[in-house]
Parts: sequence; C-alpha cells; structure tokens
Amino acid sequence: MNQNLYAIFLQRFPSDGSAPFMELPDGSLVSFDQLRHETGRMAALLAAKGVTKGDRVAVQVEKSAQTVYLYLACLQVGAIHLPLNTAYTDSELEYFLGDAEPRVVVCRPASEAAVKGIAARTGVDHVFTLGGNGDGSLVDQAASCAPLSTVAECETDDIAAILYTSGTTGRSKGAMLSHGNLLSNTQALHESWGVRPDDVLLHALPLFHTHGLFVALNLMLYNGGRVLLLPKFDADEVIRLLPKATVMMGVPTFYTRLLAHGDFTGALTRHMRLFISGSAPLLADTHHQFRERTGHAILERYGMTETCMNTSNPLNGERRAGTVGLPLPGVEVRVCDKDGTSVPPGQIGVLEVRGPNVFKGYWRMPEKTAAEFRPDGFFITGDLATIGEDGYVTIVGRDKDMIITGGYNVYPKEIELALDGLEGVNESAVIGLPHPDFGEAVVAVISTGGGRPCEPSFYIGALRSQLAAYKVPKQIFFIEDLPRNTMGKVQKNVLRERYRNAFAS
Ligand code: AMP
Repeated sequence: MNQNLYAIFLQRFPSDGSAPFMELPDGSLVSFDQLRHETGRMAALLAAKGVTKGDRVAVQVEKSAQTVYLYLACLQVGAIHLPLNTAYTDSELEYFLGDAEPRVVVCRPASEAAVKGIAARTGVDHVFTLGGNGDGSLVDQAASCAPLSTVAECETDDIAAILYTSGTTGRSKGAMLSHGNLLSNTQALHESWGVRPDDVLLHALPLFHTHGLFVALNLMLYNGGRVLLLPKFDADEVIRLLPKATVMMGVPTFYTRLLAHGDFTGALTRHMRLFISGSAPLLADTHHQFRERTGHAILERYGMTETCMNTSNPLNGERRAGTVGLPLPGVEVRVCDKDGTSVPPGQIGVLEVRGPNVFKGYWRMPEKTAAEFRPDGFFITGDLATIGEDGYVTIVGRDKDMIITGGYNVYPKEIELALDGLEGVNESAVIGLPHPDFGEAVVAVISTGGGRPCEPSFYIGALRSQLAAYKVPKQIFFIEDLPRNTMGKVQKNVLRERYRNAFAS
C-alpha cells in the first residue's frame, strides 16, 4: 500500500466531497473536492518544473488556504516540503537554501527580487511567489495546469518534510521527518484526543512549525473534520470564531491573551470540547485561571520538531497543571543522567524518547545526528524533566539553560515557580550570567506586565526563606514583557545577551 501521507489522507476524506474542509476568515468555504483539485493543480505545476521524489520545495510565505494546497502538493509528488519561518531574514534564507538545495522556492511577492538573487547564488532553479491573499505566480501558473490525479508512491521511511530547528545555539539544523513519522504521530493524537469527524478546529498557529502544520492540520486532514483557518492569532478574531469551533490548539500566549481580553467569557466556551496547549510551558497559574473562567482544563502536551509529539495529558483522566502528561501510544520516554543511565522516579535528568514519531536525522549532518541518539535508539531531547511514580512527565527546562554556579547545578524552573507566586511578578525567567567568582551567577528577570514591582530586596528575601542560598538570584532585573519567539517560547538567549556584562569586573 502507498505510504504517502497524502494518499492516506485522501482515503479518509469524507465520501461527500462537497463537505467543507476549511472556512476562511471571510466566511468562504473550501470543500474537500476543491482542496483535492487545487492541490492537484499545484502538484501538476511542480511536476512540470521537474520536481520529483525527494526534491526539496522551500516555502516562506504568509498563511493562507494556498499554503495548505502547496504543502499537500509537495506530498502528492513525493517532494520534501520545507517550510520556513516568515521572520527569517535574507541572510538566514541564503543559509537554508544553500544547505537544503531545493529545486523550487516559493516566497512572498514583496521578497521576489531579493529571493531571486539568493536563488541564483545558491543554484535554485525556480522561484514562485505566493501572497497572503492567494495571489502570486504560483497560483497564476497552477491555474492553467490540469490537476494531477496520481500520488507518488512512498515508503514509510521516505522523507516528507524538513523543518529547521529554531537554533538558539549554533546553526539551525534541518530535521528530516518521514511519511511514517507524521502518520504515526497523527494516529496517536487522533486516538488520544478522541478526535471526531464533526470536530471543528480553530487554527490560528503558523504553518511553518510542527504545531500548526503537523499537530493541527494533519490531524484534521486525517480526521476529515473542519478547520477555521485564521492567518494568525488575533484575540478578537478567535473570540468571534469560538462559537463555531469545538477544538482549539494554541501556544500558552494564546491563552494568556484570551484571559486578558475583556470579552473572553466562560459562556463563549461552553460548547467547546477541548483546549490544547503546547510548544512552550503553560504556567500552572494560567491553567487554573482558565479553568476558573471557563470550566475547561487546558490539555497540555509536549513535543519538538525532531520528535513530533511525545506526551500528552489525558482526555479522560487528570490533566495535571504544570505537567505534560503521559507518553503517547507507541512512544517510550525515560529520564537519564549524562551517561544515558535511567534516574529514579522524581529525579531530574535529560528526557530521552524512542518511537515511530522520532525523526530520521538532521539533513546532511550524520555526526550531529549520531551524537543525539543512544545506541538503543533513544533520542536525547535536551529537555530536563522528571517522571513521577505515576508516569506523569514534568519538563523543568532545557539542558543548556541549566546554570552551574560555584559548582552547584541550578534548575531555573524551580526559582521561576517560586518567583511567579510573588507580588508584582507577571512572569519570570531565570538565567546564568558569566561571573568572575562563581563561573555563572543566578539572575532573575521579572516581567511586570506594566505593573509596579516591589524592591529587589523583597524578592531576594522571599526566595531566601524557600531556597538554598546558592539558588537565590544575585541580581534581579525588571522588564515589561519577556522576549518571546513566534511559538511563545521565552528567548533566554536574548536575555543572556542583554545582561551579559552585569558582573563584568
Ligand atoms: P520546537 O522544536 O520549536 O517545537 O521546540 C521544542 C521544545 O519546546 C521542546 O524541546 C521543549 O523545550 C519545548 N516545549 C514544547 N512543548 C512544551 C511544553 N508543553 N512544556 C514545556 N516545554 C515545551
């Protein structure tokens, strides 16, 4: 049987092809038949340009219905979809195109001239444009193509997509995800979250990241449900559309912004089946506030570009705030020390993962790939975690964010949790800064959210009563809002850079 993910989606589309798959912000509908038709046209255009199995198609465009067709068209011809964050600059794009050597690049109309220059320098044959309104040369040229009806034959291990990691240290790496990785993860989520054909998903996430593209979109393609497609998160728009939705997926910032919106009431959410959060830690406080306002316990799950999703709080059962729940079906997790030896329950170590969801390696980086796998096939995530006696996983931070001060290991999360409960703290980020005496010094950056903070001595005094002295920040900085990337992750590297010289002698 053809293991091409698109072939599998097609088999599961509703028998009534006039059923709507997407509803666009202006209320217009795209049926499953239209989806298939438009995808087929783009696939025909790609094929006409010589794109065949295994060729990369790089895409840096705004989110639209056409972005969805383009993703599926890549799958249809067996090409490797390579979506890129729209925030990447020209010089970053040049690195990605030079590294991935795509046959085709699709860019925003406004970037056409710059991208053509980069494409010429990096040897990319074809440049198309695609605008946020579905305009541009890609759509114009696809319109004159007869839809391709065949779907390229693929094996489970054939690569469907390359997603570059966010790369906060060193060069970004291209994670190769196979048709089998994506299908197995979609099936695991479908089963775990009890997704139904009558589900309507509110989709406000970007389509260049694993969350919006694979978790959200693949799930609905597999399920044959409906998607309310928003170009980006906008609290007013989400509030307008919630009455039509049954499921929403978001990063934690979506939830904090909704809670801060005066029009976001419990009544708006009564009919909802599920709110899901991931890609960054959801504060327990946000979980509790959301539950109080709406009666819904947000279901938090955990994953990463390289592994798709690994764990999830249960649909039925306790959704424990501050944890990322239990391993998904078919996924094994363990917490290990640096040598790969499992640590006892409740102890902190690095989370390792094995299963059909785990990627095939980094594009053209066999040594980096090998360095991140154990001989028994477990992938070293670099996330610090604990696993409780009952199997619930708690993420306590990134390995590289761990601070070593005067020889002691400090886990920022422990201090952040203590700070977050104090007066005047909206949120906090604890980082290590170079220090002439301690090697690294613990420093806290407190986001006030525009409010008035207390004196630094208040926070230091409060922490002293709760934590060992070496964990107590040597200095406190105040900031209105913590810097975040598009997926809602706090950019600790930006903070480390900003305060780098705090202890310079
Ligand atoms: P990305 O590859 O951009 O999806 O980022 C993956 C990283 O995001 C993981 O390795 C974690 O550090 C973090 N992450 C994702 N989901 C969660 C979560 N629910 N709680 C805490 N961290 C998370």
